[in-house]
Amino acid sequence: MMKTIDDLAVAGRRVLVRDDLNVPVDGGRVTDDGRILAALTTVTALLDRGAGVIVCSHLGRPKGEPDPKYSLAPVAARLSELLGRPVELAADTVGPDAQAAVAALRPGGLVMLENLRFEAGETSKDDALRGAFADQLAALADLYVADGFGAVHRKHASVYDVALRLPHAAGYLVQAEVAALSRLTADIRHPYVVVLGGAKVADKFEAIGSLISAADRILIGGAMAFPFLVAQGHKVGASLLEASQVELAGGYLAQAARDGVPIVLPSDFIVAPERAAGVPHQVVAADAIPADQMGLDIGPETARSFAASIREASTVFWNGPMGVFELAPYAGGSSAVASALTDSGAFSLIGGGDTGAALHALGFPESAFGYVSTGGGASLEFIEGKTLPGLAVLQDE
Ligand code: ADP
Ligand code: MG
Repeated sequence: MMKTIDDLAVAGRRVLVRDDLNVPVDGGRVTDDGRILAALTTVTALLDRGAGVIVCSHLGRPKGEPDPKYSLAPVAARLSELLGRPVELAADTVGPDAQAAVAALRPGGLVMLENLRFEAGETSKDDALRGAFADQLAALADLYVADGFGAVHRKHASVYDVALRLPHAAGYLVQAEVAALSRLTADIRHPYVVVLGGAKVADKFEAIGSLISAADRILIGGAMAFPFLVAQGHKVGASLLEASQVELAGGYLAQAARDGVPIVLPSDFIVAPERAAGVPHQVVAADAIPADQMGLDIGPETARSFAASIREASTVFWNGPMGVFELAPYAGGSSAVASALTDSGAFSLIGGGDTGAALHALGFPESAFGYVSTGGGASLEFIEGKTLPGLAVLQDE
């Protein structure tokens, strides 16, 4: 059984809330606040119930030491705007400044700790190092609330070890994520179509095997398509490609052929000489990407074919943008997929930080979809049926 915050007596207690506020930041401003919005319900409930709330999160991948480039300051500012209350950001994570801020915390007050990954103990593989940092985090609070769904697949100090040290519960976001994602682990309505894309191919590649077992059709766009095309003997020019993935991709193509599950790759691409908006770009066939050009979006023929598959589906899982949606000339593929989802009667589940950001940037309201997960890797691993350390640790008899 997973306790929720409704099972915790929080009034007058200091509650450490692990959120995933790892949002895109550009020039000191948050460019997509989806994950901050998703964290509000739990934070607001705790504040209203008289808790002293200590919010913690990671941002980006600093190297285990303070790095102003990865300060949570822009996130604290946006959280404060959205809550309509002051949010004090400590200058450190568990150091003297954090300790002083927490000591001064009153019921209904809120403190944010600086980036968890400024401390090497957060992500350490060494249990003792991680444990020592978790001790410091736990010393700040009376209770722990896990609400950072995007990080629950990580065995990190703030996700896993701290829950062993404090009475704990899941926040509303984690509860909602688990409820929605569970619809893709059992009694799935068929046809079940999986759409994969994005650029963090290595992180996602492992999941493809189990998705092939579950799905009726897999559509692959984004940079994810390139190792598959190369495995089929095509050249992909200057496109983003990790050569080490080609062999794995070939293995998945073979597995899918045995299982009779079509893996549908793009038949055309929008290519350009560089990842930029103001350069000449053109549509080419997938087997004719010029050597000096890179595929930056699926082409219009592919977009139409993916959209048609989506319209026939009863369940759709989508992870990873179809192209470099941040630049207008390469946003069409992601837009076509999103738009097909809004037209279809399928239950759609969308995962991935950038995929969510793409929906917001392209003007699609989250309410137009079944569920928009704040997790990328976490939602994939959940669907694969893996044990997620940050959820397992919340289970009590
Ligand atoms: P998510 O966060 O949704 O899991 P990823 O982090 O894997 O997605 O990938 C998102 C990024 O992928 C976006 O920044 C987008 O610009 C990039 N991308 C998509 N298609 C391509 C492509 N063909 N070439 C290079 N980058 C791409
Ligand atoms: Mg991403």
